Amino acid sequence: MMQLFSIFGDPVAHSRSPLMHNAVFKNCNYPACYTRTHLQDGTKLKERFFSLGLSGANVTIPHKEAAFAACDEVRGFAKKVGVVNTIVKEDGKLIGYNTDADGFMYAIESFKPLKHILVLGAGGTAKALVARFLEEKIQVSVLNRSASRLAYFKTLNCECFTWNDFELQKYDLVVNTTSAGLNDTNLPAPSDIIENILQNTHYAADAIYGKLTPFLECAKEKNITFKNGADMLLGQGVLANALFTNAKLSKEAIQDAMRKSFSL
Ligand code: NDP
Repeated sequence: MMQLFSIFGDPVAHSRSPLMHNAVFKNCNYPACYTRTHLQDGTKLKERFFSLGLSGANVTIPHKEAAFAACDEVRGFAKKVGVVNTIVKEDGKLIGYNTDADGFMYAIESFKPLKHILVLGAGGTAKALVARFLEEKIQVSVLNRSASRLAYFKTLNCECFTWNDFELQKYDLVVNTTSAGLNDTNLPAPSDIIENILQNTHYAADAIYGKLTPFLECAKEKNITFKNGADMLLGQGVLANALFTNAKLSKEAIQDAMRKSFSL
């Protein structure tokens, strides 16, 4: 029987996930199809999942925390961080996973050594990445526009700042996990702060993919080695597809087909 998968988000039109997963299904003759669903109200996620007859889904901004709440059971790293980006239906129940953090680690494999990372943003993606960095015993500082979302990171003993009380240090890597630059020309923080930060880091990375963000444009001007979100996207996609296809396809075959879809 043909299985149906979807990505939920708001906005969701920019998502490359349908292209990536459909490339795998087609290349590997796997009987499934992947679509996109524009969801404004995250509390309706479960209802929409079942009404669409889905076997699994990915979740993007701003619903990853709502997805955690919607799942009947959450496994592995997602449980630790309270953030779900992949849902698989198992015996009529929604099982939640998080493949973003491992996808990111895959993307920055060549960035060494990493002793101190500055994370810009304090949303779902930041939560997942920070927890993963801490597992690797990396020192993490967090800078966010507003204070309220920093509370969680303080409980993890990260140094936390808003734009008003920011204290500059030296970093190995600065990661933009905000959505600044996704659909606008904003920097993730005021330009004087970004300038100072980029003068004090070896590497830069952005979770946003498909474009050179204003943040990465600044990094490029300063000749800083950087990664955009494409490699992170590939990593999380391979791991999500392996969950969707229940280990019936090899990760190599999945990665191969997905990587090719990037040139479409
Ligand atoms: P959330 O909505 O959970 O968090 C958004 C964060 O961005 C908040 O910290 C918010 O700050 C901050 N923010 C939003 N707008 C601005 C702005 N104009 N200036 C400064 N800060 C801003 O989003 P997610 O964590 O789910 O996703 C964040 C980004 O990461 C998205 O662009 C998404 O596309 C990308 N992403 C890419 C992936 C990949 O595979 N490449 C995987 C996952 C995400 P505040 O608290 O003040 O509101």
